[in-house]
Amino acid sequence: MITSKLPNVGTTIFTTMSQLAAQTGALNLSQGFPDFNGPQPLLEAVARHVLAGHNQYSPSIGLPALRQQVAAKIARTYGVAVNADHEVTITPGATEAIFCAIQAVVQSGDEVIVFDPCYDSYAPSVALAGGRCVHVQLTDGDFRIDWQRLADAITPRTRMIVLNSPHNPSGALITRDDLDQLAVLIAERDIHVLSDEVYEHLVFDGAGHASVLAHEALYPRAFVVSSFGKTYHVTGWKTGYVVAPPALSAELRKVHQYVNFCGVTPLQCALADFMADHPEHVEQLPAFYQAKRDLFCDLLQPSRFSFTRTAGTYFQLVDYSRIRPDLSDVDMALWLTREHGVATIPVSVFYEKPIPEQRLVRLCFAKREETLRQAAEKLCAI
Ligand code: PMP
Ligand code: GLN
Repeated sequence: MITSKLPNVGTTIFTTMSQLAAQTGALNLSQGFPDFNGPQPLLEAVARHVLAGHNQYSPSIGLPALRQQVAAKIARTYGVAVNADHEVTITPGATEAIFCAIQAVVQSGDEVIVFDPCYDSYAPSVALAGGRCVHVQLTDGDFRIDWQRLADAITPRTRMIVLNSPHNPSGALITRDDLDQLAVLIAERDIHVLSDEVYEHLVFDGAGHASVLAHEALYPRAFVVSSFGKTYHVTGWKTGYVVAPPALSAELRKVHQYVNFCGVTPLQCALADFMADHPEHVEQLPAFYQAKRDLFCDLLQPSRFSFTRTAGTYFQLVDYSRIRPDLSDVDMALWLTREHGVATIPVSVFYEKPIPEQRLVRLCFAKREETLRQAAEKLCAI
């Protein structure tokens, strides 16, 4: 007899929808990943490092050159100094960083507040730490923090609050004012912040990203997570990092060294080279993805879907109430894939308690122009 430690966990929606897209030949706008390659010099750098024999374990905390590049990028982007040796840890994907941060500080019986709709890896990581997830719903429609709901959810057992901005699946942004308000709310409490900022460079319309790294009251108690996969169009490389003050980094590193010990060496070498040679890449990213968002939204304008242009991430939510109000979003996603050849992600799976009347699916626009045009044509024909 197996007593499952994760009895309520099944196969993720991302696996399910990507498999269905492959089986049916649908355009895959479900799982978030680009259908184009990362920058050529980055790809060539991997080949160069593999052939040069950089194929053995890296230091557990990550290659020094890459940690230094991360610290330099943070200084340029947010104007804050983090110590590459004591505050930056390279991990095999942001997913591992999130898992390790949670294991590092959440003890049996602790509560962790997450905001619904929320990314799927947080709750299982909390459960494996022996903690309990407390789900606080973001406001309906604009996906902002409801401060009263958050205040009501905090108890003496609250050990961590998980933020995610830019937000998957809604694209909503947390503002500097929000961070200030959070800092006041938890000032006298022993609560850590886990800030999932994997889409930090995908912020549109000139809005800045309010990073916890640059918040002097929150950073001392925070883990801030990012992903090279999103920033450099290489999600399959599963390489990310976490920045935290030295004492928190030390605890996280204890976990990380036994979860995976280190990230993949030649990928770290290549990322370090590319970041040093092309600091402009991250500066150009907002315009690069904003152009894709605008192309896709312009193409979808004549459709019967309704939407507000996403503020960040490479996801666009669309409301299908005018098309099939009779279908739940899971059924809508299946119907769109099977009958109309476009795979999407239903939003209800990101909720502990889905909102029954919500009619939203998520479309990923990290795609070539040709893919976006084909998808829009299919969606406009419905
Ligand atoms: N957090 C969020 C909000 C994400 O969308 C993703 C992307 N899958 C991750 C974390 C994990 O990133 P990685 O692929 O680097 O593990
Ligand atoms: N973050 C990706 C998304 O939201 C999925 C990553 C995964 O498949 N685990 O689509």
